[in-house]
Amino acid sequence: MEITINDAAKKISQNKNIAIAPHVNPDGDGLGSTLGLYHALVKSGHNVKIFVDDDIPNAFRFLPGWENFIRPEEQVDGIDLLIVLDAEPERIGRVTEVIKAPILNLDHHRSNTKTANFLYLAPERAATGEIIYLLLDNMQIELDTNIAICLYTAIATDCGFFKYSNTSSFTMQTAAKMLDYGVEPNRISEALEQKKFTDVKILPAVIDTLTLYNDGKIAIISVTKDIKENCDSTADFVEYARIIEGVDVAIVVKYSDDKVTRISMRSKYTDVASIAEKLGGGGHIRAAGCTINDDLVNARKCILAVVEAEMAAK
Ligand code: 5GP
Ligand code: MN
Ligand code: MN
Repeated sequence: MEITINDAAKKISQNKNIAIAPHVNPDGDGLGSTLGLYHALVKSGHNVKIFVDDDIPNAFRFLPGWENFIRPEEQVDGIDLLIVLDAEPERIGRVTEVIKAPILNLDHHRSNTKTANFLYLAPERAATGEIIYLLLDNMQIELDTNIAICLYTAIATDCGFFKYSNTSSFTMQTAAKMLDYGVEPNRISEALEQKKFTDVKILPAVIDTLTLYNDGKIAIISVTKDIKENCDSTADFVEYARIIEGVDVAIVVKYSDDKVTRISMRSKYTDVASIAEKLGGGGHIRAAGCTINDDLVNARKCILAVVEAEMAAK
C-alpha cells in the first residue's frame, strides 16, 4: 500500500523495536540513509538494529556507526517494523528471511516492485537520503553531525557529487544544510576517493577491455575474475566508459562467479532502467543494473545485443 511521508513518520513513531536494511551490493545512499535513520531513531528512544546481507565496502567504513551492521544469519525475534531503504524488499537478501515483521519501504527507484506492506516512493528524489531528511523533519528529530555525515554521503554519492541530471535545487539545499551540522565535504570526498595502490595499478588491465560499439554510442568494460580478485573496489570503473565523448550507454560487465555476471549501466539519453528491468534488474533512467546468469563472455554479448536493440527501436 502506498502511503504519504506523514503516514511513514507515524508508523515509525508507533513502533519501538525497529530494524532497518538497505539493498545488497550496498552503496553510499543505501548505507548513508540507513545509518542516518539509525542514529536519529536511537536518539529518539527506539530500539534499532541495522542489517545488511553483504560486506560493507572499505570506502564506506568512515560512516559513523557502520560497525553496527549485522549480517542476517539466524532468526531475529521481537522486531515490530522492518524499514527497507533504497530498494524493494526483494533486494535485501536474507534479511526478510530472518525478520518476520511488517515492512515499511522508503525508496526513490521508479522500478520499485511495490510489494512492501507500506511504501513511500518518491522517484523525483535524487537519493533515499533526501527522503530520510524529509522524514526526520516531519518527525521533528533534530539533526546532529553523525546524522548529517550519513545523509550528506547518501545524497552526494547518488547524484555523482551534484553532477548527474537527478541533482535538483532541493538536492543542493539539503546537502548545504548538512554543512550547518558540521559536515566537511572535503573530508567525505577524500574518504571516498581514497584508492588502494593495487586499484590504481590494475587500471591498464581494466582499460584494455574497453571497447566501443554502435558508432561509438555504447562503451563496454569487462571486470574479469582476475581483475576482480586483484582489486578492492570496482565501483568507479564505469566512469571511464561514461566520460567518453559520444557515448550514450556505458556498461560494466563484472564477473561474479562462473555462471553469474553483474551488469552496471549509465546513460546520457537511453532509458537504462527499462533495459535492466527486462533482464530482471532495475534502477533509474540514467543508472541501472541487473544480473545475468551466464559467464562473462556470454553476458557481455547478451547485454550488447539488448542495448543495441533498444537503441535501434528508438
Ligand atoms: P550500480 O550500477 O551502481 O550497481 O546501480 C545503479 C542503480 O541501479 C542503483 O540505483 C541500483 O540500486 C540499481 N540496481 C543495480 N542493480 C540492480 C538490480 O539488480 N536490481 C534492481 N532492482 N536495481 C538495481
Ligand atoms: Mn542504492
Ligand atoms: Mn539511491
